[in-house]
Amino acid sequence: MRKSPLFLVAAVIALMSPARASLSRQIVRYDIQVRLAPETKSIQGREVLSWLNDADVPVSELRFHLYLNAFKNNRSTFMKESGGSHRGFKRDEENWGSIDVTRIQIKDGADLTPTLEFVQPDDRNPDDQTVARVVLPSAVKPQESVVLVIEFAAKLPRVFARSGFSGDFFMIGQWFPKIGVWSKGQWNCHQYHAHSEFFADFGTFNVEITAPERFVIGATGRRTAERKNPDGTRTLTYVQEDVHDFAWTACPDFVEYRERFALADPAVDTEMIFLIHRAHLNSKDRYVRSLRQGLEFYSRHYGPYPYGTITLVDPAPGGTAAGGMEYPTLFTSMTTSYMPAGVRMPEMVTIHEFGHGYWYGIVGSNEFEEAWLDEGINSYSEAKAMAQYYGPQASLIDYGPLRVSDIQYQRLSVIGSGRFDPILRNSWEYLNGGSYSLNVYSKASLMLLTLERYLGQETMDKIMKTYYERWKFRHPTSADFVQAAEDASGQDLKWFFDQALNSPDKLDYAVGSLASEEVDLAAGLFNGKLVTPPGAKGKGGPAVVYRNEVVIVRKGEWIVPQDILIVLEGGQTIRETWDGRDRYKRFVTFGPRRLDYAQIDPDNRWLIDADFSNNSMRLKPRPGGPRKLALKVTAWFQTLLSLAGI
Ligand SMILES: [Zn+2]
Repeated sequence: MRKSPLFLVAAVIALMSPARASLSRQIVRYDIQVRLAPETKSIQGREVLSWLNDADVPVSELRFHLYLNAFKNNRSTFMKESGGSHRGFKRDEENWGSIDVTRIQIKDGADLTPTLEFVQPDDRNPDDQTVARVVLPSAVKPQESVVLVIEFAAKLPRVFARSGFSGDFFMIGQWFPKIGVWSKGQWNCHQYHAHSEFFADFGTFNVEITAPERFVIGATGRRTAERKNPDGTRTLTYVQEDVHDFAWTACPDFVEYRERFALADPAVDTEMIFLIHRAHLNSKDRYVRSLRQGLEFYSRHYGPYPYGTITLVDPAPGGTAAGGMEYPTLFTSMTTSYMPAGVRMPEMVTIHEFGHGYWYGIVGSNEFEEAWLDEGINSYSEAKAMAQYYGPQASLIDYGPLRVSDIQYQRLSVIGSGRFDPILRNSWEYLNGGSYSLNVYSKASLMLLTLERYLGQETMDKIMKTYYERWKFRHPTSADFVQAAEDASGQDLKWFFDQALNSPDKLDYAVGSLASEEVDLAAGLFNGKLVTPPGAKGKGGPAVVYRNEVVIVRKGEWIVPQDILIVLEGGQTIRETWDGRDRYKRFVTFGPRRLDYAQIDPDNRWLIDADFSNNSMRLKPRPGGPRKLALKVTAWFQTLLSLAGI
C-alpha cells in the first residue's frame, strides 16, 4: 500500500525529532502499574498499551498472550503437552496460576471487554486460555496506532516453569496481557507450549511496581523513580526502550550489588546489577566474573551491548525452577550453596542466559517457529565463550579425573539420539521435549561449529557479525541467517543449510573396509619375450607390489565433501578427496608398501559427524593404543546415551 504524502511529512518530522533516536521500530509502548500482594501470591495491574499497525493492511481484531493461564488447570495446552512438569520440576496441585482481564477498552473510547474471547490457533484445544482476541469497532489503518487501557488480576503459580513464587521469592515473567505480532496479514500469536519460548514486537516499557518495603526488587531496564507509600509499600519505576518483553523479581532475601562494566573497543558502558539470594552469596564472585566475561565476549564478537543495565537474578533455593531463563536486560542464573569450582554451572548458565539477550533479546527471533535461531546460535556462542575463558579441554567440568568441555557435552547429547526431527520445525511439533532440545540447542550449535571448521574462524566471525548487525532490533528468519552467511562468506551455502536445517538424518561417514594383497607381477611370455619379475633372481629377494584398497561408506543422508588419509606401513601418507555423494567410494593404490590404516576427515572438520569411532580403521588391529582406547570409550558412551534415550 502506498503511503500518503501527509504520512511522509509526519515521518520526516518524526525522524528529525530527538525522540526518534530509538534503535528499534517502536511498535508497542506499555505503561503499566502493578502491585504485588505477597500473602495471596497475586498481582493486580493496569496497562496502557499503544500499538502501531506497521503493516500495510488494516487490522480489525487484536490478539494477546495471557500466558499465566497456562498454569490455570491440567487441561491447558502447556499442561497437556508437559504433563505438569518442566525440566524435572513438578507442578504444585495447590497453587495454580491464572490471569483475568477484568476490563479492556480503547482509551477514551469503546469498551472491548464484551468482545474478549479465547482462541487456540495452534491446536484448537478449547480449554486453553493463553491467547485471547478482542474485536475493534473500527479497523486500525496502516501506520496508525490504537491505545488501550487494560485492567488485569493474576494469580502466580508455585514456580515449576520459569515464572511464579517460592515462599517469598517471586519471579514474575510472562505476566501481563502482551499483544502478539501482526505479520504478513495475520496475527503471529501462539499459545503457551511446553517446549517453546516467546516472540513479541519491540517498543518501550514504563512500569511502576508496588510491593511491601521489605522486598528487594529487580526488573527489566533502569530504575528511574522510587517513592514510599503510607501503607508500608514502595513504588519503583523502571523504564526500558527497544525491548519486547518485561520481567521483574521480588524477594526480601536478595542482596543487591552493583558494578560498572566498561569497554573501550567497542564502546560499552553498562551497570551490572546482581540480586543474589543470601543462601548463595558464596557464588557472588563467580556470577560477577562470568557476567563480565559474557559482556566482553558478546560485545567483541557480535556487537557492543546496547543497554544501560543488565540484571542477574539468583533464585531462592526453593525457586531453582525459575533459574536459567532470559528476559530483556534481565536473566536468571542458578547455583547451589555448595558448588565446586571445577563444576562451572553458574558460569555456563550466566553466560548462556546473558547471551540470550543477543539472540532472543536484541535479535528478535521467533522462538515458537524457529527456536534454533535463539537456542542454537546461543549455545554455539556460549560454547565459544566457555572455551575462551575456561580452556578448550574442560570448559564445563574440570573436577578430578572428570574433564568435559562444553562442545563435548553438546556432541554427546546429539550423537546417541534418534533421527526424528530436523532443526527447523515449530517448537510444539517435535516428537518430545528431548527431540526439541537436542535439535534446537546442541545439534544447531554443532551445525555452526561445523560450519566454522569448514569455512575457517575468520569467515565465521564475519558471518556472525553480519547477521547480528543486519538483524539487531528486528525479526529475522532462518533464510535471513543463510543469506547473511552467504553474503559474508561469498559462498553458496544452501547445500549445507538445506541438509542441516531440514533433514532429521545425520552426517555419518565411515571407513567400510581395508584390504592389502600382494599382486602377481608380470611373468611369462609377452609378445614373444620372456618377462621375469624384477628381483626374482638376484639380490634382495623377489620384489613385491601390494594392491591397497580402502572403501569409504556414507551411512547417513547428509552429503559433504570428504578428505581421506591413507597411511602405509613405514609412515608414507596419501591424501584423497571425495565429493561424498555415492553410498561408497573405493580408493586403490599399488606400491611396495602394505596399507597400515585409513582415516576420513583427518582435519576433524565435520564435528557433527555422528560417530567418530568409525572414522578410522587399521588393517592389523593393534591392541591398546591411547587413540583406539579413546574411540572405544566414546563408542561405549554413545551406546549408553542411546539406551538412555537422550
Ligand atoms: Zn537457552
